[in-house]
Amino acid sequence: MNASHELDCNVYLLDRDTAQAVIDCGTGYGVLASLAELARDGFATGNVSTVLLTHAHQDHAGGASQWRHATGAAIAASTETAAIIEAGDEEANGLFGGRLAGIYPMDCRLDACKVDIRLVHGEYITIGDLTLEAIATPGHSSDMMSYIVPGAEGAVQRRHRLCGWPDRFLTNNRLLDRRSGRIRAASVPL
Ligand SMILES: [Zn+2]
Repeated sequence: MNASHELDCNVYLLDRDTAQAVIDCGTGYGVLASLAELARDGFATGNVSTVLLTHAHQDHAGGASQWRHATGAAIAASTETAAIIEAGDEEANGLFGGRLAGIYPMDCRLDACKVDIRLVHGEYITIGDLTLEAIATPGHSSDMMSYIVPGAEGAVQRRHRLCGWPDRFLTNNRLLDRRSGRIRAASVPL
């Protein structure tokens, strides 16, 4: 969609017609542009039911508070991610070190944000008619959660709609086929 900020990692829109979810929400710098892009494409921001976070790093979760306030969406994350986001813990989410290293501007902030849905490994979350399974995948970060997108019709489209592939994980920026173990790039920036 080319709407999110250059410091953001991927931001996905999961579109299930009756409801949409945003999966990861960037640093916060690109929220207004992303909302404008949604509106241009005919999506009502009020239909964004959920912001689903993979982990607490700033480029994935820094915009959670803005998304929650702008759309009314519920924030969903692992319990560990939730603790970091709710505390606005800039050390735990890497922002403090990232600012010192010059990765993030000095005005970059993690605004504390209520997490409405705390997910544990194996738990399910529903987006419209689609039920995703949360799978703990610590590695890149200890709080990392990936999501299985089960047997849905459709595919990643050229722009921003992610309708799901059977038996594949949606992780922070890759789709992992459970059967083959192969990872496919699924870069669909919002
Ligand atoms: Zn990260």
